[in-house]
Amino acid sequence: MTKSKAKISIVVDEPKGFCPIGERVGNQNKNERKIPVISCEGACIRGEIARLAAHLVAKEEPYRRSCHGEMFTVPTSAIAGWMKEAPKVVVIDGCFLHCHGRILKNLTNEDKIAQFDALSVYKKYTDIFDIDDIPEEDRKRVARQVADKVLADLKQGKAAEEPAAACGCGGCSE
Ligand code: SF4
Repeated sequence: MTKSKAKISIVVDEPKGFCPIGERVGNQNKNERKIPVISCEGACIRGEIARLAAHLVAKEEPYRRSCHGEMFTVPTSAIAGWMKEAPKVVVIDGCFLHCHGRILKNLTNEDKIAQFDALSVYKKYTDIFDIDDIPEEDRKRVARQVADKVLADLKQGKAAEEPAAACGCGGCSE
């Protein structure tokens, strides 16, 4: 498969205000020099596991959970300011498509993005879409597995350099 560098774009209406708690948390985390963590927030089980893993990583120092929505669509928000100024940003995408990693690298310095593909860690559930088709305990266990791998890689200074091309069958993500 040939890797394409072509760009696609979307148009976003200007925001009509700011999220009060987002402003407080964004400014606090920027002042405390925390490292923002986002996930792709995808609606399927892959997005859910990435989301849960991001929560777990963000519990550890010096990481904190950030908001992709404000980063992408409220560019003058405190959350966006924090993410733009942070020396590193962690993105846990649900699968090889790297939906948020592909957006983020066009909004901030690509070199500081530590990008992860959660599916490549646990390698299953590829024929399932609905989150509820996987028991909650299993979702939590797999998310812990992903978070532990992300934290270990971050500690060693490792992260996905380039999204891998794959078909999503699970075999390709190995
Ligand atoms: S990275 Fe995968 S799981 Fe996440 S939103 Fe994109 S397609 Fe869905």
